Amino acid sequence: MERTLSIIKPDAVSRNLAGAILNMIQDSGLTVVAMKMIHMSKAQAEGFYHVHKARPFFADLTAFMCSGPVVVSILEGDNAIARYRTLMGATNPANAEEGTIRKRYALDIEKNSVHGSDAPETAAFETAYFFSNLEIVG
Ligand code: ADP
Ligand code: MG
Repeated sequence: MERTLSIIKPDAVSRNLAGAILNMIQDSGLTVVAMKMIHMSKAQAEGFYHVHKARPFFADLTAFMCSGPVVVSILEGDNAIARYRTLMGATNPANAEEGTIRKRYALDIEKNSVHGSDAPETAAFETAYFFSNLEIVG
């Protein structure tokens, strides 16, 4: 069993797509073991994306991520990190495969509707960034 962090980003929450995206996640067989809606501050978004702080898109990305509410959740399952990355699709929706969340819903390379952890180390950091052990079921 593995856990990964999912964020339904502000572009998707503001278009009332959280339910549809959670349906896709649950239909894929991943289990939601923690979930909440939050509205991040700029500092919280910067802390979450600290690995990207030298990238040219960092300022825009962190402004976008605190522009409205997000739905953060922890997903559990065998190989959950890779499975969720596959379900999300490519970062740029122009390159995303049919049937992926980003192909269906993303607006552009920045407003791409979902985040998913990319490795066990980032999943551990990211799940702990938003949830205490008391908030995780199962
Ligand atoms: P992913 O979310 O697929 O893991 P990255 O970790 O590379 O992608 O980037 C984090 C987020 O930063 C992306 O999901 C997207 O919102 C934004 N982003 C990535 N690359 C760009 C870019 N070239 N221009 C604008 N925003 C970007
Ligand atoms: Mg990433």
